Amino acid sequence: MAIVSAGLFKHPTRCLKSTGIAGVGLLGTFTYCHTYKINRVSFSSSIPSSYYCHATLSTTMEEVKSTFDADEAAVLVNKLRKTFNSGKTKSYEWRISQLESISKMVDEKEKEIIEALYEDLSKPQLEAYLSEILMVKSSSKLALKELKQWMIPKTAATSLASYPSSAEIVSEPLGVVLVISTWNFPFSLSLEPIIGAIAAGNAVVLKPSEIAPATSSLLSRLLGEYMDQSAIIVVEGAVAETSALLEQKWDKIFFTGGARVGRIVMAAAAKNLTPVTLELGGKCPAVVDSNVNLQVASRRIVAGKWVCNNGQACIGVDYIITTKEFAPKLIEALVSVVEEIFGRDPMESKERSCIINSFHFSRLVNLLDEDKVSDKIVFGGQRDGSQLQIAPTILLDVPEDSLIMQEEIFGPLLPIMTVERLEDSFAMINRKPKPLAAYLFSDDEQIEREFVQNVYAGGMAINDTILQVTVPSLPFGGVGESGMGAYHGKFSFDAFSHKKAVLYRSFAGNLRQGTRLTRQKNKSKSKPYSVETYLKLFLLYSDGLKTESMRTDPLDEGYGCPLFPYVMGKGK
Ligand code: NAD
Repeated sequence: MAIVSAGLFKHPTRCLKSTGIAGVGLLGTFTYCHTYKINRVSFSSSIPSSYYCHATLSTTMEEVKSTFDADEAAVLVNKLRKTFNSGKTKSYEWRISQLESISKMVDEKEKEIIEALYEDLSKPQLEAYLSEILMVKSSSKLALKELKQWMIPKTAATSLASYPSSAEIVSEPLGVVLVISTWNFPFSLSLEPIIGAIAAGNAVVLKPSEIAPATSSLLSRLLGEYMDQSAIIVVEGAVAETSALLEQKWDKIFFTGGARVGRIVMAAAAKNLTPVTLELGGKCPAVVDSNVNLQVASRRIVAGKWVCNNGQACIGVDYIITTKEFAPKLIEALVSVVEEIFGRDPMESKERSCIINSFHFSRLVNLLDEDKVSDKIVFGGQRDGSQLQIAPTILLDVPEDSLIMQEEIFGPLLPIMTVERLEDSFAMINRKPKPLAAYLFSDDEQIEREFVQNVYAGGMAINDTILQVTVPSLPFGGVGESGMGAYHGKFSFDAFSHKKAVLYRSFAGNLRQGTRLTRQKNKSKSKPYSVETYLKLFLLYSDGLKTESMRTDPLDEGYGCPLFPYVMGKGK
């Protein structure tokens, strides 16, 4: 890899960012070099403080040999497997201690986390706090509060064929798991899955995204400082390091990123029959009816588009569909809210994150500059490569086959598509791969019902955007091209657990009742049953009784089945 073009630009804060920068070179008055492990460029001679370096980087030239290869990855996995096999990570106490360490780390290092996020994405402080720090804080708090409950085996109904018996579902840790994370919420999207993995009792390797190098290096340092290093390890790096990790046998791979790499991950996992959760992206639509409170709807759309990481969010609004008639009013309202939040010249606003790097900046500019698209801009369109900024931009009725309507935008561009009737929007959405999220703004309950029933998506919010991600009782995940599996809250625990089915039977004359837990509770009430009783029960159940009525009820006074008192002649 090498720098193919470079230059000095006047800008006080931002430095060069790109994927896979490597190599050493000389440019003007300073030397730049790649700090391998953290993929960052540093300067050996001083540059005037009012200047910064901007460069376009390419991955076409010589690769620097990675120091972390498959052999090293194998050693790492063996080490973690030893820890897992020792049983250490399975104990409730270990899980709690690690979850507490995450809480403590986030509390104590809040400032450093916010600084790293600013360095990577110019993420405004409040946004960084809400979307990264607070998310992790509440998830670890919830796991700490609920863990005992989550770990308790769940009683299950039994069948006639297994009678007499009891059954339970035991949540068992999977083993040694790999979490591969992305750059847009580089802190929370790394720690959220780790909270689930720890809560479920696994050993974990985290591979953060090299595209957010400051956060990646901070995660490596902080997890090294706060977490149990025999079970929780961070491996920094890019494609080479991730590939070395993917060559290993894992008990689960949890991947957040794009569908292209998702396919690579899944193919690698298939070799070892490793289960995967794929948290991918897609084009998330927002359908806007004309009967809405326009000001509230516009604020919520602007928040879900430009406030949230400047459009670089997997569940951000990718495009809008509304009626031809209503589009002008909607555009006017959106522009007014954008100006209210970011000022009359949004390019000058400090309230928006920057585009992550020059690769993504060029990708977005290409979407805007496509022939059949460039004349559809109705608001915005300004760009500044030196600041990695593109103004909040609205486009009206771009062709459906344009790149901007085919690819996930993942940036501050917002196409608005119009239809004759709002219901036509459903077909437009369903013609595309299933998105991670779909939004509807409408005051019409019938439309709401139809939207929920007919539009395919990973998740939905009606009359708002993004907020579904903050509800831990809702699973967060995609479907089809937007991913598989889900997490958040208890779903994170489940994503990293195997649900082990356990059937308890006993020996004749010594009927076992209830689950292990139920039995412990009702020990004194357990009674053996006679052959005569078994016969009665057999006749009763073979007389057309449904299995539903045989459910084992822990509250049944120790009989193990609600019908037992009746059969035994003790029922009312
Ligand atoms: P990406 O797929 O390029 O990278 C994700 C991770 O994969 C990184 O850690 C990277 O190092 C690694 N990687 C990259 N190329 C690889 C290769 N060839 N082999 C092995 N590993 C490789 O994704 P990105 O650009 O970082 O993220 C953007 C995408 O992620 C968008 O599509 C977005 O919608 C999606 N996303 C999804 C969620 C979610 O929760 N569902 C959250 C954030 C982002």
